[in-house]
Amino acid sequence: IVPIRPGLLRDGAPTEAVLLGFIDLTPQRRVEQMRVDFIANASHELRTPLASLSGFIETLQGPARNDANARERFLKIMGEQARRMSRLIDDLLSLSRIELNAHLRPETEVDLVSVISHVRDALGPIGRERDVEVAFDHPPAPVNVRGDRDELIRVFENLVENALKYGGAGGRVEVGIVREGPDVVVSVRDYGPGIAPEHVPRLTERFYRVDTAHSREQGGTGLGLAIVKHIVARHRGKLGIESVPGEGSTFSVRLSAASAAGQKQMTDQ
Ligand code: ADP
Repeated sequence: IVPIRPGLLRDGAPTEAVLLGFIDLTPQRRVEQMRVDFIANASHELRTPLASLSGFIETLQGPARNDANARERFLKIMGEQARRMSRLIDDLLSLSRIELNAHLRPETEVDLVSVISHVRDALGPIGRERDVEVAFDHPPAPVNVRGDRDELIRVFENLVENALKYGGAGGRVEVGIVREGPDVVVSVRDYGPGIAPEHVPRLTERFYRVDTAHSREQGGTGLGLAIVKHIVARHRGKLGIESVPGEGSTFSVRLSAASAAGQKQMTDQ
């Protein structure tokens, strides 16, 4: 919503001019606006580490040329900035690949217990570094859904990593799988600071962060939950976010279980 002129809202009542502003943004224009914003955001996110790299190169060529200590420190920071750019590019490519295939529903049978076990192992070092235990509660394996294993790994890697990064202060992260009728629900719960309600609906927007500096410090790109949302949608699933400030957050993914026949076949093999 783009008001034509700021300050048109008087006593909370929209004036005629504001309403014209509403009408002007047709769905097509909104999509165009989103694309323009996305490119502007992506360029800004890439330009920030690039500017820092250029600055360090100049310093190393000039004032710090003969300072071995400074060289060491600067090269370390430059390595981090280069890795940040590379993560960002990977995430941008993933998003566009997922969007391109949005209409194709992935159909392989995937066992979620094995997916979460893989994610726990992969994130073990991050958990240990922060002294956070990742508990995992699930029915007997396999708990199958139809999907793409790599994409589902990506979803839960993002959710568990976020729980460790932003909710790790609680010392414990709980991942649970439960069957609910025809569905399977995977939840990732942390006991960290939680998220204020006004941020929750916007978390899956590209580059939206509650605290940009903190996200960058944690190596975030601001694209993780946008990727999660797109993958879950492609699997015809639902992403739920519940958070209580001061108590923690629960991110859950609801997916259709693969048919009972499929589950049995997999067990028999
Ligand atoms: P990022 O790369 O910044 O982690 P995400 O899209 O994964 O991007 O997450 C968007 C923002 O949502 C994060 O920057 C953080 O502010 C907030 N967030 C995500 N998960 C949690 C959580 N478990 N607890 C608190 N805040 C969270």
